[in-house]
Amino acid sequence: MRIDADVQLERFRAGVQAFLAEHQPGAKHHTGVRAPDRELVPAIRAFTAKLFDAGYFGADWPLAYGGRADYDPAEAFIVAEEIARAGTWAPIGAATNLGAAALIEFGTPEQQAEYLPRIRSAEHLWCQLFSEPGAGSDLAGLQTKARLDGDHWVVDGQKVWTTNGHHADIGYLLARTDPSAAKHAGITAFILDMTSPGIEVRPLREITGTSDFNEVFLDGVRIPADRVIGRVNDGWRVANSSLAHERSGVAASSAELIRHLDDLRGLASDDAATRQRVGAIATRVLVSDAMSKAVQSHMLAATDDAADAALVKIYFSETNLALAELGMDLQGVGGIVTEGDEDAVAEGWWQDAYLYARAYTIAGGATEVLKNVVAERALKMPREPR
Ligand SMILES: Cc1cc2nc3c(=O)[nH]c(=O)nc-3n(C[C@H](O)[C@H](O)[C@H](O)COP(=O)(O)OP(=O)(O)OC[C@H]3O[C@@H](n4cnc5c(N)ncnc54)[C@H](O)[C@@H]3O)c2cc1C
Repeated sequence: MRIDADVQLERFRAGVQAFLAEHQPGAKHHTGVRAPDRELVPAIRAFTAKLFDAGYFGADWPLAYGGRADYDPAEAFIVAEEIARAGTWAPIGAATNLGAAALIEFGTPEQQAEYLPRIRSAEHLWCQLFSEPGAGSDLAGLQTKARLDGDHWVVDGQKVWTTNGHHADIGYLLARTDPSAAKHAGITAFILDMTSPGIEVRPLREITGTSDFNEVFLDGVRIPADRVIGRVNDGWRVANSSLAHERSGVAASSAELIRHLDDLRGLASDDAATRQRVGAIATRVLVSDAMSKAVQSHMLAATDDAADAALVKIYFSETNLALAELGMDLQGVGGIVTEGDEDAVAEGWWQDAYLYARAYTIAGGATEVLKNVVAERALKMPREPR
């Protein structure tokens, strides 16, 4: 199935475009999963609530929490793509995708009633407290511990790379609750109130000059026992299931690159060698977009296999890196101007994109780890020694 060949869906797309033109919270100047300046957060909350009210987000939720009976799963891809194409902010944090998915599948009725409406209204922004200094690709090796003390869990440990942790109201936390169990088996998922005593959020300044993610220190943090998502020691299943719901990223990725291809045309000199380099990268960007559309179709038809999303992510992030490098190269000494310089091409988008490009090859699964997925699950090569 081709999404852009369906008349009904193209009408839906036109509706999204008109909605974004009216309600978007302003231009997003930087590529990637970024954190806004604090002043912009209220506008992004208001925009998020409007996306839910309009049925562009949360349409696949249970009807009791605002889902729509006539929901078409292709719509989520269209919304993500149009937001990227408009060059504006998507909802920030981990609530609309990960948190909501975990609550809908594993949450108690009380948790759903308390948290889902607050995700819809964007009163609650969530962050994802999974990664640790010693546990990223090997997430199951996480060491943050939670021990039961009466009717509370007490949490000690450290998280890192927590995107938007400095703006978040709620943390989706993974912690080890049974240190004696096999590493995947002793983990529990929690809903953490980020204003709880004992939490220290320290923003990290990145090579881009921005602070998008944080270190989060947890020192004797008390979580009421009824904030466990799913069963105690079953957090690995909860986390993996909610990560699998995070599909719309497949749609958003290439739309922004296509927007910036025009800059390259403007920068390219007339010599044949440069034109060939621009042509080659433009082709890769369009192939990346075609791959992502093909995988969206597989997902909608439930014919996707384990390697599909991994291949799209690898190809996109490597293409993005090559595009950013070429864009900087073509600017010559102009490449060293910084954002805010009036001579900067596309207001400095290229300089930031160049510095950020490596992050895309790590976030959401590092390239090498995804290549293992492709090798083992699609090519059926021998498993790497573990
Ligand atoms: C922009 C960005 C935003 C993020 N946001 C969040 C967030 O909000 N919340 C959160 O919890 N985490 C977040 N992360 C963390 C992210 O999930 C991890 O960075 C990622 O899982 C990789 O883990 P690591 O950084 O510990 O690197 P490592 O796992 O230590 O990897 C280091 C290097 O070793 C390679 N490697 C590791 N294992 C293997 C293997 N088995 N075979 C071959 N090579 C291997 C990797 O490919 C990489 O090159 C974010 C990361 C980025 C870059």
